Amino acid sequence: MKFKVLADHFRLIESTSSRNDMTELLSKLFAETSADEIGAVMYMLQGKVTPPYEKADFGLGEKMIIRAVVRALQIDEETFQESLKKTGDIGSSAEMFMEKKGMKGTQDMSVMDVFEKLVSITKMSGDGSQDRKLEILSELVKALDPLSCRYLVRIPAQTLRLGFSDMTILDAMSWLLAGNKSLRKDIEKAYHVRPDLGYIAEMLKKHGISKMASIVPHIGTPILMMKAQRLPTPEDIFNKLQTGRIEPKYDGLRLQIHYEKKGKEAVVKLFSRGLDDVTYMYPDIVEGVIKECHADSAILEGEALGFDSYSRTFLPFQETVQRKRKHDIAEKAQEIPLKMFIFELLYVNGESLLKTPLTDRSKKMLKVIKPSGDIFNDTLLLSPQVEMITADDVNRVFEDSISKGLEGIMVKKLDGTYEPGARGWNWIKFKRSYSAKIDDTLDCVVMGYDRGKGKRSDFGIGAFLVGVYDAQEDSYKTVAKIGTGLSDEDWRMLHTLCTHIATDHKPALYDVDKLMSVDVWVKPAIVVEIKADEITRSTMHTAGRSMKASVSGKASVVDIQGYALRFPRLKRFVDDKKPEDATTVEEVAEMSSIQLKSV
Ligand code: ATP
Repeated sequence: MKFKVLADHFRLIESTSSRNDMTELLSKLFAETSADEIGAVMYMLQGKVTPPYEKADFGLGEKMIIRAVVRALQIDEETFQESLKKTGDIGSSAEMFMEKKGMKGTQDMSVMDVFEKLVSITKMSGDGSQDRKLEILSELVKALDPLSCRYLVRIPAQTLRLGFSDMTILDAMSWLLAGNKSLRKDIEKAYHVRPDLGYIAEMLKKHGISKMASIVPHIGTPILMMKAQRLPTPEDIFNKLQTGRIEPKYDGLRLQIHYEKKGKEAVVKLFSRGLDDVTYMYPDIVEGVIKECHADSAILEGEALGFDSYSRTFLPFQETVQRKRKHDIAEKAQEIPLKMFIFELLYVNGESLLKTPLTDRSKKMLKVIKPSGDIFNDTLLLSPQVEMITADDVNRVFEDSISKGLEGIMVKKLDGTYEPGARGWNWIKFKRSYSAKIDDTLDCVVMGYDRGKGKRSDFGIGAFLVGVYDAQEDSYKTVAKIGTGLSDEDWRMLHTLCTHIATDHKPALYDVDKLMSVDVWVKPAIVVEIKADEITRSTMHTAGRSMKASVSGKASVVDIQGYALRFPRLKRFVDDKKPEDATTVEEVAEMSSIQLKSV
């Protein structure tokens, strides 16, 4: 495929505001793409040259990209900057100047040619590499036509966001194969095991849907982490599971460890819940894994906690979280060393354990992680486990955990498998809060903001609209507009984050009542933890509104009451979750019913 054909697809996708049209356009693009190209196309659609969890830095700041563009266009930088002030987008400005100058591109490059050049930029380092990178980008701009350049430069500038989610892509793949959404679930399951859209698409193109069921974990590719359901009482938990294992629920940093011996070396990677590679942040865990993991290869999961060696106690989340940083890592590691409670073994020595029952996974885990019992020596620990025989056991372990300052407990089904990405009933969490009012928080996506009046207008933002994820419809639905409870610093931070992802139209994946419209829409990217006093019903919010197809085939609203948050306030910015990992509408409904039961 020629890159200019791909650019034309990008243009069509970018200009639609309907999710259905977007799905159709994507599936048309996939149909025209060959199996050998589809991986590259997938990554470029996401504005990348690798899957998102792999670090591939272009190492070109905005200034350098502008320099490459003006060199190719042979215009002076000031003139370009003037236009950039108006468009706010290097790609659109480059396109405009090329059109003005009648530049049509000197070569008809293929998708793979452009992709390989971009990849080569990410691989350059050392002396003179900046100049070489600039040269390659500049040559690319000269070679391509104006529309292609609009999209090309947005890739190293990291501003290519075409407005669809990974789920839209999975739907489009199903459309490609079946002409409808019926295969999405099967494709999604495979994607949860191996969230590399390039790989999944290539497999689908080459082998069809039959290959999806046999996709297994791959060392170096994070598996989407399993999540826990919640129930309001120990009795409910016992009745639901009958048999189970109770573990303390630690409030730290969830990490997935990928470990592989390569000759005398061992390679360790650590991933966050949002699938980011965070290996560099936790050198003490990496060292611990190399020493304490008894396998040739393994994928493990657990919760890392700060440890105070004087009092021999684990630190609360607020202190542990200080280890999540990009600078001064070694110093902070000295100050707050981490220990990690391992609770899952998902893969060992080439064998996937995802479908193995919990008890068998655990038996194998005991062969891989064997703590010496000396807390000062061990980095990897195993959490205590109590078998659930009666509902009383749940209560007892819960009270015990609370008295130790823990968040609560997790009860896990003994024969439960590990379900990547799912919030199923194999894990049930129980926190102190459930016995009182809603004290659990919601992870919401920032959808837009109002500019604000008075003092707030200094921050550029006076209130912001948040929503939760509707996994059935792959859309975001509102639950609150928040205007209080933020520090000046929070407002500034939120405004800065929003500025980078502002968009001139309501994103296709948003479902918002017109009463909740905002001055500025932002693309789904920022996740915030929101605390509220209560979940109420409201006609202004869309989360939980039920829709029904009418005779004409159009959706009509059946229950106009959505869920809304009473006294919502920002608790923190959540940087290890993607928008699709936000709280779902289904969960809000559950939280609301738990709240009703406990009144
Ligand atoms: P919460 O805010 O309650 O942690 P969440 O949506 O962030 O909710 P859940 O999937 O609902 O996450 O709860 C599971 C989380 O609990 C895991 O992400 C993990 O970080 C943490 N956790 C602590 N102890 C355990 C344990 N023993 N087993 C599994 N997960 C645990």
